[in-house]
Amino acid sequence: MLHSRTAASRLLRCATRWQHSSAQPTLNSITSDDIAHFAQFLPQNAILSTLSPISVPPSEIEQYNTDWMGKYRGSSTTVLRPQTTEQVSKIMKWCHERRIGVVPQGGNTGLVGGSVPLKDELILSLSNMSKVRSFDPVSGALVADAGCILESLTEYIAPHDHIMPLDLGAKGSCQIGGNVSTNAGGLRLLRYGSLHGSVLGLEVVLPDGTILDNLSTLRKDNTGYDLKQLFIGAEGTLGVVTGVSILTPAAPRTVNNVILALPTFENVLPLFKLAQQHLSEILSAFEFIDRTAYELAVKHGQGKGLSDEEIEGAECFVLLETSGGKKEHDEEKLNILLETLLESDQPLITTGVLSQSPAQFVSLWKLREGVPEAVSKEGKTYKYDISIPIASFKEVVDATREQLRRKGLLHEDAVRHVIGYGHVGDGNLHLNIAAAAYTPEIESALEPFVYELVASYKGSISAEHGIGAMKTHAIHYSKSGVAINLMRRIKQVFDPHGIMNPRKVLE
Ligand SMILES: Cc1cc2nc3c(=O)[nH]c(=O)nc-3n(C[C@H](O)[C@H](O)[C@H](O)COP(=O)(O)OP(=O)(O)OC[C@H]3O[C@@H](n4cnc5c(N)ncnc54)[C@H](O)[C@@H]3O)c2cc1C
Repeated sequence: MLHSRTAASRLLRCATRWQHSSAQPTLNSITSDDIAHFAQFLPQNAILSTLSPISVPPSEIEQYNTDWMGKYRGSSTTVLRPQTTEQVSKIMKWCHERRIGVVPQGGNTGLVGGSVPLKDELILSLSNMSKVRSFDPVSGALVADAGCILESLTEYIAPHDHIMPLDLGAKGSCQIGGNVSTNAGGLRLLRYGSLHGSVLGLEVVLPDGTILDNLSTLRKDNTGYDLKQLFIGAEGTLGVVTGVSILTPAAPRTVNNVILALPTFENVLPLFKLAQQHLSEILSAFEFIDRTAYELAVKHGQGKGLSDEEIEGAECFVLLETSGGKKEHDEEKLNILLETLLESDQPLITTGVLSQSPAQFVSLWKLREGVPEAVSKEGKTYKYDISIPIASFKEVVDATREQLRRKGLLHEDAVRHVIGYGHVGDGNLHLNIAAAAYTPEIESALEPFVYELVASYKGSISAEHGIGAMKTHAIHYSKSGVAINLMRRIKQVFDPHGIMNPRKVLE
């Protein structure tokens, strides 16, 4: 009896402590005294603030307060742009003591509202930390500041015949620290795997200012828990990534791409299977674009595709890329695949265009990479990036369109297009809804409808963009209660005051 009462009281204590720790901590607003403190160790051009003594107009902060989609908007008064890890550490130490919320910001290209404050948190921009620290052309290990733009890193290692293991449409603006923090997938995941495999080490400033120097360049290191993995995809909720060590693969000696028109979506899976069989190790991308997405890309000048006659009767398109070591070998494999496709009794494709020059190669890629930008030109976009069985891609797009039709929202003044495109090879569909404006009617027609649909396929509500501010309420569709509780406890260990990117990932 005594034993069970003791156990019960221990449980009660636990529960009380748990309730206490999961309550939303109160955070303080930034004051002029804080600015004066930051000015002691940061150069003046590293501080942008509407507060005195800096007093810039709010318009100068606007771009940092607003996300890429124009969907999320914060009211921060202050952006800090440190140049060194030590400066980041001093900022975090102060914010930890003062209980000031901090939002790390990379290129601000995130699509789930994670990179902007929800209230008046401090914005910590990594854009002034943009130096390559080292590159080993033999091992391919690249060590760089977190604020390096992905495309600049690609250009930096190109003369050494290496490429970055990831590539995405936002490469001209997104930063490697942002890529790591979102565990970005992108166009090369099929070939080079996720950042959980290619990141070798990280330097992270923890919420209390402690610098965790885990910037290893070793391929193998089994000394206990692999802490870096926790920060990959943490979306700035556990610490500020200040340095990244990443394995870059040798550049392929030859690349080809081809865009294929398919009469029906049913042919995508058999085509993928055939492509894998014929191309095996040289298949490096297999991207799906539905007809509406293709037409929007062409309409908004994102690459030059097929002629009007060629796309007649096409329901969707596949962009296929090969990369390998020997031109003749790769071309022979690709040609055999294309001949098989065209000469079959029941052809899987209606036609295709094989790039004939580096310029055409880029132009064909643009048809796929340019889709997000093209869709954004049609109005405001609701973006769902989901993992579901490949065979269900069309069902999900059709079901969403039907749901919006049923609700009377499918017209020019509400929802203009429902589009599907994405990384077939990774089972990742981008479901985009282009609307005249973000409205509560459209949002309530889409949510939880889309999340329930994804859950019915046992899919994931975020294949690669993350949870950010957009999906905190929906994380349970893809994570069990046990997993969410463990995540909360990990957050508590790293960030007991809840200052890191508040109200993101976990509610
Ligand atoms: C046109 C377009 C195409 C895209 N294509 C893809 C795609 O194919 N695949 C894909 O996965 N994503 C894609 N995205 C989404 C986006 O580009 C990626 O999520 C990218 O990795 C974000 O990097 P960023 O530097 O812009 O980060 P931000 O948007 O600034 O931040 C994203 C999140 O990471 C956190 N963060 C940023 N930097 C740090 C840091 N140094 N330390 C700690 N936390 C940090 C932020 O707090 C935020 O939560 C696309 C976006 C656009 C606009």
